[in-house]
Amino acid sequence: MSKAQFYSRKPGNILLCELCPNNCRIESGDSGICQVRKNNAGILSLPYYGMCTAIALDPIEKKPLYHFYPGKNILSVGFLGCSFKCPFCQNFAISQSVSTHARPVSPQNLVDMALKEQSFAIAYTYSEPIVHLEYVLDTASIARAKGLKNVLVSNGYVNPKPAEELLSAMDAANIDLKSFNPDFYKEEIKGKLAPVKKFIEMAAGRIHLEVTTLIIPGKNDSVREMEEIAQFLASLDKNMPFHLSCYYPTYKYDIAATPVYSVKKLADVARKYLTYVYIGNAGGESTDTLCISCGSVLVGRRGYTVSLDGIQGKNCRKCGAVAPVAGLD
Ligand code: SF4
Repeated sequence: MSKAQFYSRKPGNILLCELCPNNCRIESGDSGICQVRKNNAGILSLPYYGMCTAIALDPIEKKPLYHFYPGKNILSVGFLGCSFKCPFCQNFAISQSVSTHARPVSPQNLVDMALKEQSFAIAYTYSEPIVHLEYVLDTASIARAKGLKNVLVSNGYVNPKPAEELLSAMDAANIDLKSFNPDFYKEEIKGKLAPVKKFIEMAAGRIHLEVTTLIIPGKNDSVREMEEIAQFLASLDKNMPFHLSCYYPTYKYDIAATPVYSVKKLADVARKYLTYVYIGNAGGESTDTLCISCGSVLVGRRGYTVSLDGIQGKNCRKCGAVAPVAGLD
């Protein structure tokens, strides 16, 4: 069983996991809230190190990342467990259980798969990758040495010290900002808002960063909350791509799906502060990236089919303005 980092010993054979802000105190034989970090006779162990539940070559737009290597496919890997308890989790079979089928894949094997598939990068996604930080770091190091990028898709729930190591290993991330209401984090998903904001602040300007908020009717869909989220993100970078995603009923939530008109209204609120606001899970809504200077389409999207016809090199083909998109040179 692999040995964890990011913990300390307490009296009574208790281990304090210091990886995420849950800061679990774990007694011998028990596991933390995420279910994947275990006190094994006084050593914090990783019984699910390298146990992968899904490995697939996805369009990077599916992460979603819209301004990072658009149109490219990315080898994506998922694990088991999560530090949150979201009752609306779309991947609850792997995030809230450790009994779902998983197969062992070493860091070297995963990198070899990415190279074989001619992926430009590896995405750590589907479930919560941060609770497997040791595996992510081991893999990312090998991947970078082979010229691959590393992409994190995460709830952003991590303590500052491991966050430093994580950000050093990553090139891009999409972080969920599930609400701007501390009570929502506390009562609905058993977490805290402040550490997620802190991680977003740490990541902004350091790696390529996009943020996603799943809009749930009656839970986080007020205009005031959207104003607060958009102002916060704009204070870091008004050109940060922001994705508003429509919720649909799943797992423990049976609230009706988010009406598209409601998300469109919130997107207009966000656009008062942010340049690039996208609506996801909404069927026919445009997700094109427009030139900030002349308004022509830089990156056209129809589902996961991407057109780069509006870009020449790193510039708008029509007016020559620099395109706000990484990975095109
Ligand atoms: S990573 Fe897991 S065990 Fe560690 S503090 Fe977070 S939830 Fe608890």
